[in-house]
Amino acid sequence: MTTFAEDIRAAGSAEFIALDEQWSTHNYHPLPVVIAEGEGAWVTDVDGRRYLDFLSGYSALNFGHRHPALVEAAVAQLGRATLTSRAFHHDQLGPFCRELAELTGTDVVLPMNTGAEAVESAVKLARKWAYRVKGVPANTAEIIVAGSNFHGRTTTIVSFSDDETARADFGPFTPGFVAVEYGDAAALAAAITDRTAAVLLEPVQGEAGVVVPPDGYLAEVRRLCDDAGVLMIADEIQSGLARTGTLLALDHERVRADLYTLGKALGGGIVPVSAVVGTREVLGLLKPGEHGSTFGGNPLACAVGRAVVRLLATGEFQQRSAALGAHLHDRLAGLVGDGVSAVRGRGLWAGVDIAPGGPTGKQASLALAERGVLCKETHGTTLRIAPPLVITQEELDRGIDAIAEVLAH
Ligand SMILES: *Cc1c(COP(=O)(O)O)cnc(C)c1O
Repeated sequence: MTTFAEDIRAAGSAEFIALDEQWSTHNYHPLPVVIAEGEGAWVTDVDGRRYLDFLSGYSALNFGHRHPALVEAAVAQLGRATLTSRAFHHDQLGPFCRELAELTGTDVVLPMNTGAEAVESAVKLARKWAYRVKGVPANTAEIIVAGSNFHGRTTTIVSFSDDETARADFGPFTPGFVAVEYGDAAALAAAITDRTAAVLLEPVQGEAGVVVPPDGYLAEVRRLCDDAGVLMIADEIQSGLARTGTLLALDHERVRADLYTLGKALGGGIVPVSAVVGTREVLGLLKPGEHGSTFGGNPLACAVGRAVVRLLATGEFQQRSAALGAHLHDRLAGLVGDGVSAVRGRGLWAGVDIAPGGPTGKQASLALAERGVLCKETHGTTLRIAPPLVITQEELDRGIDAIAEVLAH
């Protein structure tokens, strides 16, 4: 029997779910959890139930919900100036770009808002570089991408996705992209031509199920790009900013890209902030009028981005992700054969394949939500785990215990 209080609380959630269903488009299929508040690794729903956040907004919440230093920076900037457009200078843009470039060891920053915009910007930059620097004939540049990639949702980006759900009915598609199998350096080498402008890759494929490429692959991609005079673009929107235990996932192989796309955690879970960072040779090609965004590089975004950079500069989150990630992967490896068929990942980030005969990913996510742990499935039978990097080992264990319980069969 449920108590009256429980009934009221259930009604609270149901009302908001019904509103979403009636008034918002159905382009997502969320779990029936209606979040009202978040703090650190925890969220509370409108009915007062608490959940451990094991998804972190797909790494947009690497520093947890409402990290005090980030909220403080945002609130301080709200009291100063929030938007100027790029028609004028303001006192947060230069400092943000300098600090982000110094953190990432790059020369120049192009600030944008969403991840997809950063990827679009990188595509434009690579094409311009191909025509102006490499000498590729006009309008023939090609960009090599990987199978099973995820780079966002714009029409150009879905043009080079192989996810039929993301593409169907959205053509005609943008030409100029060639896909090769992820992790296969020979296939990549064979796809490079005189017209190749760039190779665009996720150093770890998140959406595909947290797929880590074979050792040495990314270094080999770098070598192939150098030999052929091709740009290497690393989409670190999800893998970057401490998620894998290093600032950038490419750091694991000591590889440097020409351009990096950053996003998600760059906005501290507060505002959308993305950027392309990289060499002056490429980013320096943009001239006034050729690219822009009304909100890109706005004062509030830059102030929050600066606070994010300050957190990352301490190295604390990289260390936490590496140490807690080792613990996470130790424990998850112990589940293989007990409801789990395989585990992949790096740092505090894992794809857990549910063994045949077990619950579907959706059923497992629901069972976990019931036990107070929020995560999400991908491709039907893989759970994607990315707890906030502020999580404690005790909280992490609690979530892993729930996963073990739900998947054991
Ligand atoms: C999320 C993501 C994007 C798109 O970012 P949005 O902010 O949703 O547009 C692009 N690339 C990767 C690797 C991502 O994970």
